[in-house]
Formats: sequence, structure tokens, C-alpha cells
Amino acid sequence: MILEATLAALFGLLIGSFLNVCIFRLPYDLTPANPPRSFCPKCENTIAWYDNIPLVSFLLLRGRCRNCKERISYRYPLVELLTAFFFFVAVYKSGVSWQALKLCVFAAICIDLIFTDFEERILPDEFTYGGALLGLLFAFKIQLPSMFGFLFLSGETRQWILSPVEALLSGLFCSGLLWLAGALYKKVRHLDGMGLGDVKMMGMIGAFFGLMPALFILLVGNILGSVAGLLFIFFAKKKAATFEIPLGSFLGIAALWVAFSDRV
Ligand SMILES: [Zn+2]
Repeated sequence: MILEATLAALFGLLIGSFLNVCIFRLPYDLTPANPPRSFCPKCENTIAWYDNIPLVSFLLLRGRCRNCKERISYRYPLVELLTAFFFFVAVYKSGVSWQALKLCVFAAICIDLIFTDFEERILPDEFTYGGALLGLLFAFKIQLPSMFGFLFLSGETRQWILSPVEALLSGLFCSGLLWLAGALYKKVRHLDGMGLGDVKMMGMIGAFFGLMPALFILLVGNILGSVAGLLFIFFAKKKAATFEIPLGSFLGIAALWVAFSDRV
């Protein structure tokens, strides 16, 4: 599988490069298609194709814009390498299969969300709603374990519909749960504890992996976020009430860990 996995990793570099464009543009309501060419955020010079090769260009240019010499963020090679890594692992573990494709798509979505939430506190609908739809479609090909199945236990129920229904109900349930937690928090503390983006993101995770893995991811993500938040408040001496934890970033990290460690 080494050859296939290596090809997947190279493809992952390209997808990572595309994700970088999304991470930079979607929060500002620019689309990956408009403007059509990449540009430097500082001098707005259009970037030539030979300066836009994933990873390679960053190394050749030593991390600086050719025109204005402004530093290029380390996020660019990092996102490309992470995407390549997860694509490699997906194909290495599952071969050239629907399962590997599902893991690759999920990894790309999570990497995008981790970085947009961390940098901009935004979880773009294109990846939350769009991802939920993709998760639902994958459920037609890859059977999800039945948790809500008892609701339709009649012998008449066709097998092929059980898994997508499972994905739909899991997504709705996980979203609802997080929304309810946020609403309660708001009532008690009179503060917005959580954005709607996190709620949509949990729907996406539920649709991809079903109820139990999604609940586990929710738990792990919240623990990671809380620990990181406490550390940040302690070391940066910020007031707890003014600090907004990028919960989506931590949900994404938890989701990647769970999805790639065969816990789903
Ligand atoms: Zn520049």
C-alpha cells in the first residue's frame, strides 16, 4: 500500500494548498474561485504558479513573498503537510477504498475548521453544512452502527436506508445537544458560551460517524478546550469571561484523533 499511500499524500499536498486558500478567503466572504489567482495578503501581488507549488515554493522562497519579502505564515506548509499526512495514513490503513476516501474528506474538513476557528473564530458553513451533507452521502456506502435503529425496527425497513437515517438523526441529535448546552450556559451565565458554528460542526461529525463516536469526540474536544483555556488564562493572565476558546479547533483535533485511531 506504500505506493498508493504516497500518491495519496502528494494529492493531499494539493488539497492542503486548496484548504489554505479556503482558510484565508472564506472568513472574508471571498471564494476560492474569485479572485481566480492567489495573491500576497501584504502587497496583493498575484503569485506566479512557480511560487505556488505546495511546500516546495515555501522552502525555495524561505518563507517570504518574492515581491515584498513579507513572511509567509507557517500555517501554509503546516496545513499542506498535515493534509498529506492524513491522506497517507487513510490509504495506508484502508487501501484504495470508500473508507479511505471518507477518512480523507473528513480530515480535509477538520483541518480547515481547526485553522479557521483558531485564526478567525469562524467555522465556515461551506465546511460544516457542506461536510454534514457529505457525511450523509457516505452513509449510503459505508454502514454506520445502528443506535437509532430501534425507532424503525420493522422488518419492512430496507437496509440501505437505515445507515443514512442513522447519520441524519445522529447529526441532528449532536447539534441539538450542543445547542441546548449553549442555551443553558447563556441562561445561567448571561454570556454567549458558544457560537452556532460549533453546533453545525457537531452535526457534521455526527453525520460522518454516528452517535457514539460523535459523543465521544464532543467529550474529548470539550476536555481539550477546557484544559487549553485554563492554561491560557493562567499563563496569559486574561480574564476568563473575555477569553473565547476556539472550541471548534479542539473538536476538530479530537475528531481527527478518534477517526484515525480506529475508534469509529
Ligand atoms: Zn508580498
